[in-house]
Amino acid sequence: MNKILLLLIIISGFLVIFYANSEIFSRKTLINVFHKEFAIGAIVANKTISNLIDNENVIQNHEEKHNEGVFKRYQKSNGNEIGAINGSYRVRRNHTIGHARKVPYNSRNNDYNIFVIYTKENYQLQKKFELFSKSLLKYTTVKVHLHIITDSKSETTAEELLKEQIRRYHKSIYYTLYYVHDCAEKITDIVHAMMPFFSSNPGSYYSDALFYLSLGLHRIVDPKMSRGILIDCDVVFRTDVRFLFEEFSKFSSDNLFGLAPELTPVYRHILYRFRANYPQTNFGSPYYSSAYLLHNNLINSNSVNGGFNRESIRMLSKHKHKHIKHGYPGLNSGVVLMNFDGIRSSKLYAEALKETYVTKLANKYLFKGHLGDQDFYTLLGYEFPSLIYRLDCVWNRQLCTWWKDHGYSNVFDTYFHCEGKIKIYHGNCNTRVPE
Ligand code: UDP
Ligand code: MN
Repeated sequence: MNKILLLLIIISGFLVIFYANSEIFSRKTLINVFHKEFAIGAIVANKTISNLIDNENVIQNHEEKHNEGVFKRYQKSNGNEIGAINGSYRVRRNHTIGHARKVPYNSRNNDYNIFVIYTKENYQLQKKFELFSKSLLKYTTVKVHLHIITDSKSETTAEELLKEQIRRYHKSIYYTLYYVHDCAEKITDIVHAMMPFFSSNPGSYYSDALFYLSLGLHRIVDPKMSRGILIDCDVVFRTDVRFLFEEFSKFSSDNLFGLAPELTPVYRHILYRFRANYPQTNFGSPYYSSAYLLHNNLINSNSVNGGFNRESIRMLSKHKHKHIKHGYPGLNSGVVLMNFDGIRSSKLYAEALKETYVTKLANKYLFKGHLGDQDFYTLLGYEFPSLIYRLDCVWNRQLCTWWKDHGYSNVFDTYFHCEGKIKIYHGNCNTRVPE
């Protein structure tokens, strides 16, 4: 009996030694298996990894020696690093797991740069950012590089909300944080040129600068970055953001920015005086004419006459084969595609940003707006159509109906019309996005 007991003890001893030396079951191996699947420098979300990390003794802020460089700094606008963060994790035995890692921009990483502004957070903004990041991660099939322009009050929530969605969808992305004040300092000349014409109640410099960042983003980002997309955080994706990046391939050599039309009569309102002086202008008119919409309604309708009387049908058949002249309702800056290379080398754009030119442009159209960068894009796009690629409205389906109840109920629907399968909803003026 004693001999059997002794034998069992010896066997279990061997088993323990074998297990202890085995690579198969070690955490290290498991970590490496996962690690290889994700690029170094990415934020990686994988439940298994997260669990491992949670059980490990996580050492934070201790990665200076690691060869791939784990960055725990804010990326400064010129590509250097500033400010400390605490989002990089490292487990014992020198295994770097990209569970949550910030990286400075590196053109080797990828070219799917998405910029989002998240500042002065409150509960409402948190909810918006949650839906934004959730829908972005749910659909994306590419490893995006998210550039979050934030402030000290909002950064923690932004990171937490992001990590939550990364875990939920088991996706991996890169991200970089920027301080809004550093960014604002790079564009003071632009803000000063624009504020008198495009800000309603000029507040403090910094609160207004936020709404002009896109115009000077090429000065803020890494000089090697060739393209990027700025998106409001009150948007919800209904498709893979990769397809939005594919729109860049349709840019002509002159196109610097890509924006979708404004879907309300706001510029009809702002351009009231100009339109009175030039009644033939299409500036401030809806993209689709009412005749076009009537015609479309008619052919899409199953009822015999589509609910139209004879007169309207006669009118429609007159227009049927005619080329429909589109109006120019202005542009919405909730989604802005930016060809940074083109922007940097455009003398015309550099000139257009100057105070003298902005003043000239605003005076020409008797323009006094309140929507920041999008007011400028709207004027620029009318003056120099070739600079702007016209993004389809399905990529920025705005939902705000404020103008419908404020004097424009009769024409609102012609502006609001957007055909096709919606790819991005934009819940502007705090409108709820449909589930
Ligand atoms: N934003 C922000 N903090 C604010 C206000 C705005 O970070 O206090 C950012 C946010 O990304 C938001 C964008 O600026 O989506 C533009 O503002 P908003 O979407 O509210 O304007 P709207 O689309 O309703 O005109
Ligand atoms: Mn918005």
